[in-house]
Amino acid sequence: MAGSSPFGGENFFTTRVDAVVNWARSNSLMPMPMGLACCAIEMMAFAGPKYDSARFGSEAMRFSPRQADLMIVAGWVSYKMSHAVRRVWDQMADPKWCIAMGACASTGGMHRCYGVVQGCDNFLPVDVYIPGCPPRPEAVLHALMDIQEKVRNEYSITQDYTHGDPYKNAPLIP
Ligand code: SF4
Repeated sequence: MAGSSPFGGENFFTTRVDAVVNWARSNSLMPMPMGLACCAIEMMAFAGPKYDSARFGSEAMRFSPRQADLMIVAGWVSYKMSHAVRRVWDQMADPKWCIAMGACASTGGMHRCYGVVQGCDNFLPVDVYIPGCPPRPEAVLHALMDIQEKVRNEYSITQDYTHGDPYKNAPLIP
C-alpha cells in the first residue's frame, strides 16, 4: 500500500486500527493476581472500592490464566513456587504483560536466601517494577497506568508478542 493510500500515505489504515485495538486493550486489562506474600494485601486494596481500579477497567481479577492478560506478582517467589508461576504465565494468551509488585518480587527483597528467587525477572519478562515494602495501592495504580501507556504505543496488529519474551521455551529454574 506504500504511496497508494488515498488517506494521506503509507500505513494510515493499519495505524488507526492499531490505535483502536490498543485503546480497547489498555482499558480492559484483566489482572491475574499472583499473590504470594504480604504485598497481596495491598493488591487487594488496589481493586477495592477506595482505590477503585474499575476506573481503569481493571477491577475484574481473573483466577484463570485463560481470562487474564496482566500478571501481578505480589510477594517473594520461592524456587519451588516459580515453576507454578511460570506455568500460569505460559497458559495466559498473548498479548500479556507483567508487573513485579514490591521489593521481594522485583529483587528478592530482604530474602537473601537459597530458597527465594532474586527477582521474578529471572523467569518472567517483567514490564513494570514497583518499589516499596509494601508498595501502596496508589503505586499499583501508577504501574497500571504505565502498562496502559505501553499498550497504547504497541503495534497490536503486526507485533510478535512472543518475540519479546526471552524466556519463551526456556527451561524452568532448577
Ligand atoms: Fe512483604 Fe515487603 Fe516483600 Fe511485599 S516487599 S512481600 S510487603 S516483605
